[in-house]
Amino acid sequence: MRPIIAIVADVIEDPSVNTKPNTVDISPTMFKDTLLAAGGLPIVVPYPSQLSLIPEMVQAYLPLFDGLILPGGPDVDPTLYGEEPSQEIGPANPPLDQFELALIRATYAANKPMFGLCRGSHILNVAFGGTLYQDLATQKKAAIRHLQRTSGEYPTHHVSIVPQSRLHPLLGDRAYVNSRHHQATRRLGNGLRLAAQANDGTIEAFESSENDLVLGLQWHPENLWQEDPPQLRIYADFIDRVSAHRQANLTASLGATVL
Ligand code: MN
Repeated sequence: MRPIIAIVADVIEDPSVNTKPNTVDISPTMFKDTLLAAGGLPIVVPYPSQLSLIPEMVQAYLPLFDGLILPGGPDVDPTLYGEEPSQEIGPANPPLDQFELALIRATYAANKPMFGLCRGSHILNVAFGGTLYQDLATQKKAAIRHLQRTSGEYPTHHVSIVPQSRLHPLLGDRAYVNSRHHQATRRLGNGLRLAAQANDGTIEAFESSENDLVLGLQWHPENLWQEDPPQLRIYADFIDRVSAHRQANLTASLGATVL
């Protein structure tokens, strides 16, 4: 049975919607296609426009999925990691920030794996107490170009994979990746360890040092695996971990019922 993977929806303006607001809740097609190719069953979960609904929605969503995808999106509000906004910060989305932080905490407490990509890895790092570069180009000396001008399905820079990481058996020492970010993880949160970095030292992947529940990735394998098949292993490994935890959580809850 395919494990169910929740993808948090983003909200974007759609000029074809003739109402106010003219927004739609969306998830990029490649998440759906890649999760299906890797053995998962995707569902998309929208956040509420009303902040007061967040706790209730998070608790109601939690039993509906086995693993969580935190996708790319807008900048994380820097006050969430103790900084005032720099001149280079882009628009943040407070309801999305608050919803994802609450969902991350609940998902982690429920022993279900999480996979954050780009902004998704940033909010994951912030949830564990880490910090971000608000703007790599102006805040990090000698940073290479991470906001690629080339179309996003093409790789533009290399990353080195940490030999003892969980990522290493999947990709080997080095990978060639796409790069569509102007922010990046700066100080890793509690219980997180480096898994890959660019040659300018930018953190490109991290994982939990305490369990196999957390993966943060700065690049987008969902746009690369068609030409670079090993990139699909990152999703397949996520699905494997989700399936293992689903089984373990089920066994634990059955055990509790019997007792
Ligand atoms: Mn990059």
